[in-house]
Amino acid sequence: MTSVNADINQAVEPQQEKVNLLGLSAEKLVEFFAALGEKPFRATQLLKWIHQLGVDDFEQMTNLSKALRQKLKEKAEIRAPEVVSRHDSADGTRKWIIRVTGGSCIETVFIPEKDRGTLCVSSQVGCSLDCSFCATGKQGFNRDLTAAEIIGQVWIAAKSFDSLGVGAERVVSNVVMMGMGEPLLNFDNVVDAMSLMLHDCAYGLSKRRVTLSTSGVVPALDRLGDVSDVSLAISLHAPNDRLRDELVPINRKYPIAMLLDSARRYLDKMPDTHRKITVEYTLMDQVNDRDEHARELAKLLKDIPCKINLIPFNPFAQSDYRRVTNTALQRFRDILHREGYTVTVRTTRGDDIAAACGQLAGTVNDKTRRSERYQRQAEETPIRFVS
Ligand code: SAH
Ligand code: SF4
Repeated sequence: MTSVNADINQAVEPQQEKVNLLGLSAEKLVEFFAALGEKPFRATQLLKWIHQLGVDDFEQMTNLSKALRQKLKEKAEIRAPEVVSRHDSADGTRKWIIRVTGGSCIETVFIPEKDRGTLCVSSQVGCSLDCSFCATGKQGFNRDLTAAEIIGQVWIAAKSFDSLGVGAERVVSNVVMMGMGEPLLNFDNVVDAMSLMLHDCAYGLSKRRVTLSTSGVVPALDRLGDVSDVSLAISLHAPNDRLRDELVPINRKYPIAMLLDSARRYLDKMPDTHRKITVEYTLMDQVNDRDEHARELAKLLKDIPCKINLIPFNPFAQSDYRRVTNTALQRFRDILHREGYTVTVRTTRGDDIAAACGQLAGTVNDKTRRSERYQRQAEETPIRFVS
C-alpha cells in the first residue's frame, strides 16, 4: 500500500490541496494523525464519525477539542464525489450517476433482495480491457478512481437510505466490486476502500459480504491474497481459451489455466477451508451457450471449489450479441446441476433504468479514443459472433 506521508506533507505546505480523509484506510488515518502529533485513537474516532455516522463536517465532531477541529479544517476535508442524479426503478433498484474530479461520470447501483441489499461499486472511469460484450469496455478508459471515490459510493448509498447513524438499520449489507472497471488494475485504491468496508469502526461488513470480481489480472490476483481475504468472483464466460480469447482479451495474456491456478492459490491462502469462488458466466445466444460449452465448463472446473453464476447477457446499443434464450439457459443450468455444481442465475434488475450488469457506461472522457472507434465500426460492420 502506498504511504500517506506524501499527502500529509503536501497538506502542511501553504496553498496545497487538503487531504481527503474519506478514502484513508485505518492505517493511513493513524499516520495522518501521527503527523499532526495526535494519538492513534483519533483515527478510530474519525472512522466512526465519517463511516458510521455519515458526518462530513468537523464542527459536528463533538468528542474532538476545538483546537483539533480547527487544525483539521485547515489541513483536511471529508469530500464525497458529487451525485449528478438518482434513478429509482420500479423493482426497488436504485442507480446513482456520480461525477468525479475531471468531469467524467461513473455509475453505482443498489439491488435490494429479500434477505440483503447489494451495492455494485465502480473501481475505474471506464475500463481498458475491452471485453467484447461489455458496455463499460466500449466506453474506453479515463482513469482509476481514488479510494475516496470508491468508498464514497458506499457512503453516498448508505446516507441516501438514512442507514448511517446511531441504531440505524443497515441497508447496504453486501458490496460487489462489479460496477465499471477492472478492480485489480486499480489495486491500492481498491484494497484501501475494501479495508474500510470490512473495518469494524467503518462499515463492518464480513469478508463474505464483500466480493471482488475480476476478468483475470493474474499477478494482481496473486498479490490480493496477501493483503485481503474478501470473496472472489472470476469472470470466465468461456470454457476454452479459443473462445475466451475473443470475449475477454486479457485471456491472451493470462489464459484460463493460469487464472484458475491463481484463483486456487487465493483460496489456499484463506484460513477458512470451506470458501468457494464464484465463477461468472455471461450467456450469449449462439456464442457460449451450447450443451458442449456447459459440458466443457463442468470438466474444466471439476477441481475448483466454486459455485457458478449464470448471467443472461444484457443488451446495449453498441452490441449485436443477443441474450441467451430461456430454453438454452435452462439446458445449460441443468447440465451443470447434473454434474454436481451449485448454479445460480442472476435475474435482471433495474432494466427500466439501465442498471443491469454490463450496462453501466457513465460518461467517460475516453483517453483511448476507443469509443469513437467503436462508433465508427458499429456503423460500418456488424460485430462478428464467435462459435
Ligand atoms: N471488470 C470486472 C468487474 C466488472 S464487470 C470483471 O470483468 O469481472 C462485472 C460483471 O458483469 C462481469 O462478470 C462481467 O463480465 C459482467 N458483464 C459485463 N457486460 C455484461 C453484459 N452486457 N451482460 C451481462 N453481464 C455483463
Ligand atoms: Fe472491463 Fe469487466 Fe467490462 Fe471486461 S467485463 S471490459 S474487465 S468492466
